[in-house]
Amino acid sequence: MTITEWLTHARERLAQTGCPDPDVDARWIAEDALGMTRQDMVFEGDRAIPRAQLYTLESMLDRRAAGEPVQYILGSADFMGLRFRVDHGVLIPRQDTETLVEAALIELRQRPGHPTLLDLCCGSGCVGLSLASLAPHTHVTLADISPEALEIAKANQKALEVRAELKQGDLFNAVGRERFDVITANPPYIPSGELPALQREVRFEPALALDGGEDGLDFYRRIAEGAGDHLNPGGAIFLEVGINEGPAVLALLKEHLPCVQAGTLKDLCGVDRVVFAKTRNEE
Ligand code: GLN
Repeated sequence: MTITEWLTHARERLAQTGCPDPDVDARWIAEDALGMTRQDMVFEGDRAIPRAQLYTLESMLDRRAAGEPVQYILGSADFMGLRFRVDHGVLIPRQDTETLVEAALIELRQRPGHPTLLDLCCGSGCVGLSLASLAPHTHVTLADISPEALEIAKANQKALEVRAELKQGDLFNAVGRERFDVITANPPYIPSGELPALQREVRFEPALALDGGEDGLDFYRRIAEGAGDHLNPGGAIFLEVGINEGPAVLALLKEHLPCVQAGTLKDLCGVDRVVFAKTRNEE
């Protein structure tokens, strides 16, 4: 079978099995398994695929046809122009979450010296490590309850060659009484009852990273309650939120923090995606 023939066969199979993006996924799998660029595959499309590589391609295609996200099959995902290693222990970085990184980045760049950042629920580390890379004057701490997630975050930290401390624990328990200038988090925020109805691909991701309790807001309540004890005066917090959760999360931050400014930011699709609060300078 030639490369072009395999791509056609893979596209058709993925389309039939309900994959939303058969063309892109077939190409990504082929690029990875054959170690070729998109251009190589066009120019060398008539080349026959050796048996061993065909076997690899077919087993990757089987996994994708069964609904597994292509990023888990490839073992990586791109986010903020950086490549992150991922596996089943972490949520796949979403483009939506770049809104959170961009907002925190503006805040960190306005802070002279060496501001401190705590990224809670760090998962693969995509938020905190992107910030460590893009705002290298920042002292970054990543925290997660999941040892599996921290292992991936550690691998990503090494691969990206950025400085960051990694700590295991349940939300603020990971950092004792330490305070920070900026806090970020993309916590689990899907209401528990909605988990079974999620897209087939999302059901391959860890429920621990998605389940936000009955109304989806459990983690925001705990983060809002603890943030006052973990932000320096004049500190700021940025939280990713799910669809329609903005107003409730904004109210929680205003209730628990001495805010001088608070609001909601939209993602590229125009959906409220980040809630932030900046706190008073004096104690
Ligand atoms: N954005 C993810 C989704 O919609 C959820 C991420 C989260 O719970 N933090 O599937």
